Amino acid sequence: MKPQVEIYDTTLRDGSQGEGINFSVADKLRVAEKLDSFGVHYIEGGWPGSNPKDIEFFAQAKKKKFKNAKLAAFGSTRKKATPVELDEQVRLLIEAETPVVTIYGKTSMLHVREVLRCTPEENLAMIADTVKYLKDHGKFVVYDAEHAFDGYKLNAEYALDTWRAAEKAGADFVVLCDTNGGCLPSEIAAITKTAASKLNCKIGIHTHDDSGVGVANALAALEAGACHVQGTVNGYGERTGNCNLISVIPLVHFKMKKSCVPAKSLPKLKELSGFVDEVANIRHNPRLPWVGSAAFAHKGGTHVNAVQKLASSYEHINPELVGNARNILISDLAGRSNIVMKAQSLGFKLTNDTPELRSILEAIKQREHEGYEYEAASASMSLLIRGILTHNPELLFTVDKYHVSMRRDDKQSICEATVRVRVGKKIHDEVAEGDGPVNALDSALRHALAKSFPKLKKITLTDYKVRIIDGVAGTGAKTRVLITSTDGKSEWGTVGVSENIIEASLEALVDSMEFALLKK
Ligand SMILES: [Zn+2]
Repeated sequence: MKPQVEIYDTTLRDGSQGEGINFSVADKLRVAEKLDSFGVHYIEGGWPGSNPKDIEFFAQAKKKKFKNAKLAAFGSTRKKATPVELDEQVRLLIEAETPVVTIYGKTSMLHVREVLRCTPEENLAMIADTVKYLKDHGKFVVYDAEHAFDGYKLNAEYALDTWRAAEKAGADFVVLCDTNGGCLPSEIAAITKTAASKLNCKIGIHTHDDSGVGVANALAALEAGACHVQGTVNGYGERTGNCNLISVIPLVHFKMKKSCVPAKSLPKLKELSGFVDEVANIRHNPRLPWVGSAAFAHKGGTHVNAVQKLASSYEHINPELVGNARNILISDLAGRSNIVMKAQSLGFKLTNDTPELRSILEAIKQREHEGYEYEAASASMSLLIRGILTHNPELLFTVDKYHVSMRRDDKQSICEATVRVRVGKKIHDEVAEGDGPVNALDSALRHALAKSFPKLKKITLTDYKVRIIDGVAGTGAKTRVLITSTDGKSEWGTVGVSENIIEASLEALVDSMEFALLKK
């Protein structure tokens, strides 16, 4: 069945223009495969005319079989005063051998006169020639109308002429672009509606988030007659980014109730978002709508109490529908409900009547008073709750002693750690070097424990944060260390607090490994 709204992903082209985003060819292939299995309809792989890396990508991608998505190469209309068949950049588009080619052209008279510096007629010919040439080569042609809205506001008749030129030459889609990201949703809606009434071909929308309404603008266009939306995963893109498809997809599916990607993909939305961040080596934004770790986090006691009775009271949708989870934040505001829900979400059978509840609540408040923070350290909290519920569980291991040293040889500084752990009756000693004292300590501890618990070899640290809690006390101030660890499948956070940064780190490391051993 044809979807009512087509999703066109440009993470690998427009998205890679974003600050701090740099995909290798191998990265691009991994992202493309993920997008394909998720079920987007088009994947714009790059601009072969702009760099050799993108040419290489298309050469490699040619050998892959995509199940759902059509691959698109991106470029521009031919140069002015150059016959299209002699245009180098257009030739590279054909040589990319993709089923879809997307080209952008000028809508705005201002850009034609001041940037392109050619006559309005020449611009129309550039659009028509290029679209026709690509159609003659059997391509599905998407025409991106650059500055469509700004251009229309400046000179509506000419803007329409440019879109009609693309349509008449055979473009399969005319995509209206809010290139500068400065339009209001009402303007986008009105102009899209006009375009849809004047053109016979299908209309798409491409927005940027410069005014914070990239997603809203895309939806306004979809409601006004567009049926194809371009954007990027997590809103990557130049300046403040492109329209975020990770928001658009659930909005179209759940709120507009129109079909886009397969329904079975929606619960994989958070995974897709995290995967692309992982490949781009970008820390996941906790405040991302729908998929961020804070998207369904509840902190205030009364909210938590209400959510416990009726989830929909403070949630716009069930988080599981997009692969997210409710997250009950524990803090000084914590009431009994927070603790009960948090404990339940961590897998403990706890109710408001559990006798240990009071001790758990007191222990958490006491520890928070000492400087611990559990919002990003659920694993440490699990261990704390487990300890109280099981009344002094047997320890899986203890760290009997450790030593950390640092020296500098010539220009290179080297840290070394020795650790002795006890597992039952066994004692393991280990020594390791590292980039810094904590890295060395982590390595020594992990290797020592792995002798009894081989599964710990797979654990890696993904984040390490240090905060000085009590600045006024100077060097006597306490240090809070937050560590995030992963076994490749899931992530967990642990916390340690001490006046000594190494001690605090060790505490968080020990919690992390203990949690890894208890986790199923
Ligand atoms: Zn763009």
